[in-house]
Amino acid sequence: MIKKTLKLKIILNFTLISTLFSYSTITMAHSIPLNKLTGQFDEKKDSDFIALDLTVLPVNKKGMYLQKEPADQLIKAYNDFKKIHPDIPFIVVSATRNYNYQNGIWQRKWDALLQKVNNPQNIATEILKFSSMPGTSRHHWGTDVDITSVTSNFFKQDKKGIILYKWLQENMPKYGFCQAFNEGRKGGYLPEEWHWSYKPIASKYIAQYKVILDSDPNKIIQTLTFTGHDKIKLLELVKEYVLSVNSECY
Ligand SMILES: [Zn+2]
Repeated sequence: MIKKTLKLKIILNFTLISTLFSYSTITMAHSIPLNKLTGQFDEKKDSDFIALDLTVLPVNKKGMYLQKEPADQLIKAYNDFKKIHPDIPFIVVSATRNYNYQNGIWQRKWDALLQKVNNPQNIATEILKFSSMPGTSRHHWGTDVDITSVTSNFFKQDKKGIILYKWLQENMPKYGFCQAFNEGRKGGYLPEEWHWSYKPIASKYIAQYKVILDSDPNKIIQTLTFTGHDKIKLLELVKEYVLSVNSECY
């Protein structure tokens, strides 16, 4: 009798645990709404986001936002950096960019290249060296920032840039940040020394983006209506550019 009760208890416990497990897997998979993954929302009206103008962080333009947790961690990084290197610029030059903003960048570059490049696929890959397709940028997530300069030359040749980059590489992981577009990836964007990503949150976004691309890609693809979307190998490009990031950012 005791044995039977014990067996029943084990079975019940097992059922409970597996139910909880599958429930949490399902809720995890749906925890980030699609519009947040693809930047189709207004970060200025979202209570998870904070205006960087209200913080100590130097910015190169007004009206930039980040999610609160990455902003807090970035402030810590900035303060610690400034204690050691008060004369080296640590400036946020880009933070959250929503779909509409990114669409403006895409459209401008598309129009400019249309004069010189005849094939839409080639126009897209030229833009994609440094800019994302609207709906596919990590800047949509509120977890990613560009710091001080968006040219590799600054970080590789300028005295101050070299010091800044060395500090970022050695210290940003302590605050939760990884360099999403590092050297040595197989595809995707060229290396970006300036682009840092808050892993505790961004890793959830990329995981969910990947689940959708693997299981039901049209859910995402049909929301991408930027110029040229119907003239390029869209799904192939989305997979390559969203997923080809530093393994330390997963
Ligand atoms: Zn960036």
